[in-house]
Amino acid sequence: MAILACLFPKYSVNLIEFIFTECLTKQGVMNLPIFNYLTELFFPRLCVVCGDRLIEQEQWICLHCLHHIPRTNFHLEPDNRVAQIFYGRVKLEFATSFFYFSKGSKYQSLLHALKYKGMKELGAEIGKHFGIDLMQSSDFLSVDVICPVPLHPQKEKKRGYNQSWWVASGIALQMQKELSDDNLKRVTATETQTRKSRFERWQNVEGIFELSHPDAFAGKHILLIDDVVTTGATLEACAQTILSQTDARVSIATLGTA
Ligand SMILES: [Zn+2]
Repeated sequence: MAILACLFPKYSVNLIEFIFTECLTKQGVMNLPIFNYLTELFFPRLCVVCGDRLIEQEQWICLHCLHHIPRTNFHLEPDNRVAQIFYGRVKLEFATSFFYFSKGSKYQSLLHALKYKGMKELGAEIGKHFGIDLMQSSDFLSVDVICPVPLHPQKEKKRGYNQSWWVASGIALQMQKELSDDNLKRVTATETQTRKSRFERWQNVEGIFELSHPDAFAGKHILLIDDVVTTGATLEACAQTILSQTDARVSIATLGTA
């Protein structure tokens, strides 16, 4: 205590003692308002989309950016642009994305933060809002199991998390659906390729994913979740794997679509 008093001579020993006691012994450092204030002062929480300071009730994204997210509303329109990506490639029930993003746009930074900046909880937060939208559609309400697109274990270890799992967990929580993260597995790290013929693609897809327990998906409606859909190659491979190994129906939902 005496050392603290020497370091901060302007403050009385009593005040330092009060802060020290309250801070470290009674409430714990994290709970003390002054600690939160100082953390906020030196490490302000910023919105991942606009960069403005967040208020206490906001997490990762400010209410303004959340409200103005460029929703596709594809869950209300079965014959949409995302569904069309898979026409003639794999039989899906429904396909949708939460919002549009373009290269360099504000909302692309959200996806970038989720995937590359370690902000995994952002995925669950946005997933919850996506889940609210999906619940407006009877097509998606008929889903039984939410299944994130798996990363290869080596890649997941390197990144520390699977961003699609976090999105899926938010959606599953909101929709009160089962989350399956131990059935569909990625067994090779090979990138899926799109510039191939349908047959070559099929060969390329073979052996990338597999189901550990095909029976667990039998007769169920599976909703595959990924962060973005661009060429659709990975999602196609996952859907093909499920459909070829068990009697299930498959739909797709991603956060972003270009
Ligand atoms: Zn914002």
